[in-house]
Amino acid sequence: GARVQLADLTKQYGSGTPAVDHIDLKIQPGEFLTLLGPSGSGKTTTLNMIVGFTEPTSGRIELNGKDISRTPAHKRNFGMVFQNYALFPHLTVAQNVAFPLRERKVPAAETAKRVTDALELVDLGGMGERRPHELSGGQQQRVALARAVVFSPNLLLLDEPLSALDRKLRQSLQREIKRLHDELGLTFVFVTHDQDEAMTLSDRIAIFDNGRIVAVGTPTELYHRP
Ligand code: ADP
Ligand code: ADP
Repeated sequence: GARVQLADLTKQYGSGTPAVDHIDLKIQPGEFLTLLGPSGSGKTTTLNMIVGFTEPTSGRIELNGKDISRTPAHKRNFGMVFQNYALFPHLTVAQNVAFPLRERKVPAAETAKRVTDALELVDLGGMGERRPHELSGGQQQRVALARAVVFSPNLLLLDEPLSALDRKLRQSLQREIKRLHDELGLTFVFVTHDQDEAMTLSDRIAIFDNGRIVAVGTPTELYHRP
């Protein structure tokens, strides 16, 4: 698993208060870390800087001790899962999952094997020929999870992946995500505004407020009242 360090990281969009305001955070190899906070507190901006979609105004992002602040997103080798799944509607499930491997020019035979394994990992074996619109929301998000881990990323980033789902699906997908984390031993960075979800899933939680990290700890450290 990857060790990621954010050092004095800031993002300012216009004038006024920065969206992310001089944050420091160490993400340990293999841990499940959640960024928790209200809407507008800077969680997504932080995630987008880690994955490389958004350039920091100042500060540093390190991967295993190396500064990657200026490394293009596709070279960071990070998997990402979005709230709205972001599947390609014209491609089959298998073609969606194969997409990152095609971008990386992985040979066809290995691609086929990896796609089969990834779909089985998320309990969608045999669904490869379906189209996204033929699947439920929960199944579509599992396809997105398979696509995000199929290329053996250093890190998996998940931006409110459960928010579009109803309560029952949310619970089953929570279990799926936790199981995936246990099986892969991969570092997970998860964004949510839901405290219960954060407490159920996380090894540690970083609490965001107004662009700052106001507390970091295990669920017990943060929420246990003796
Ligand atoms: P969260 O993920 O916690 O809801 P965001 O990181 O999306 O928070 O947003 C933090 C702040 O930055 C908000 O005030 C939001 O309006 C602002 N913001 C986010 N993205 C942009 C953007 N592309 N341009 C300008 N302001 C933005
Ligand atoms: P979330 O709250 O889930 O982070 P939003 O609906 O706030 O998402 O934002 C959706 C998109 O719009 C994101 O790409 C974000 O960067 C951008 N965005 C958010 N706030 C602003 C803003 N004030 N100005 C411009 N773009 C923004």
